[in-house]
Amino acid sequence: MMIVMKASATDEQIDAVVARIESVGVTAHPSRGEEVTIIGAVGDREHVARLGLEADPGVDKIVPILKPYKLASSQVRQEQPSTFDIGGSLIGGDHFGLIAGPCTVESRDQILEAADSMLASGATMFRGGAYKPRTSPYSFSGLGQEGLRLLAEARERTGLPIVTELMDPRDVEPVCEVADMIQVGARNMQNYTLLTEIGRSGVPALIKRGLSATLEELLMAAEYVLKEGNEKVVLCERGIRTFETAYRFTLDLTAIPVLKEMTHLPVVVDPSHAAGRRALVESLSLGAAAAGADGLIVEAHPNPEQAVCDGPQQIANADFGAYAAKVEQAAMLAGKRAFRGAAATAG
Ligand code: PEP
Ligand code: MN
Repeated sequence: MMIVMKASATDEQIDAVVARIESVGVTAHPSRGEEVTIIGAVGDREHVARLGLEADPGVDKIVPILKPYKLASSQVRQEQPSTFDIGGSLIGGDHFGLIAGPCTVESRDQILEAADSMLASGATMFRGGAYKPRTSPYSFSGLGQEGLRLLAEARERTGLPIVTELMDPRDVEPVCEVADMIQVGARNMQNYTLLTEIGRSGVPALIKRGLSATLEELLMAAEYVLKEGNEKVVLCERGIRTFETAYRFTLDLTAIPVLKEMTHLPVVVDPSHAAGRRALVESLSLGAAAAGADGLIVEAHPNPEQAVCDGPQQIANADFGAYAAKVEQAAMLAGKRAFRGAAATAG
């Protein structure tokens, strides 16, 4: 249920409604809009109905939330997109996020060189996996805690917020110490224990769409995090599995405008894992930015030929500045602000 407060409602009246909702074991999620405050009441509908909140001072009306994803729905934010501050960098609304860096943390030299280069090219956040989901159990699976330490050093040095994957709820503590945004991999989109733990951690989450997940399933995954009171969830389209075999995955660009109808959460696109090869990454990135994505998460490496994993799809650091400049143009075409700051004037 959604309790819409009157524009004239006072803070005391809002607090009183929240307290009444919580008194029957239902969680209240107030959202203060520019005009009115809306309180999402998520839990047993009957319990809320019995409170008769319509008669409470400051309450305008009670509206049911029709979708199964409640807190993720556009309806609870009055169809307004959300903007989040992730470690000092804004994403959503008219803010575009360029999250870039290598697939995985390999060494101190590699990660610091990558981070310096991404900062100079105008990336707004830095990515790198310390825990890697691999199709083969014999492949390199990340440096683990040592990788996290190197990511912390990269942030210290560049100031770029860190996006890194959490695969196992047992690693939630060390990952949360370093991550400004926790990545949930495509293969873990429906790992509900993991999603709940991330929700409880309060650290923003970037949830990748599963290889064969519907958009509704993606939003239900987000709901697991939101339900714990963690409001900052970013969704990521990274290609889905179809009958096509000419490339790795089919990047579903239609997901961008459709998700924007369904949810207030920012939507980013991963062109690297969809494409599987470097030559396709730029076109997919420009397409996604022009289609209204709120950002990209893209792989770049100081020397892709020597990358430990996903080498063929990573953009060389040396080419990243030109790539970022084009992405910025496409994003601006779709109404986003320039995001490259000092990098734009540095060329
Ligand atoms: C990654 O981002 O490095 C990754 C493994 O992505 P995905 O979960 O989308 O395959
Ligand atoms: Mn990768």
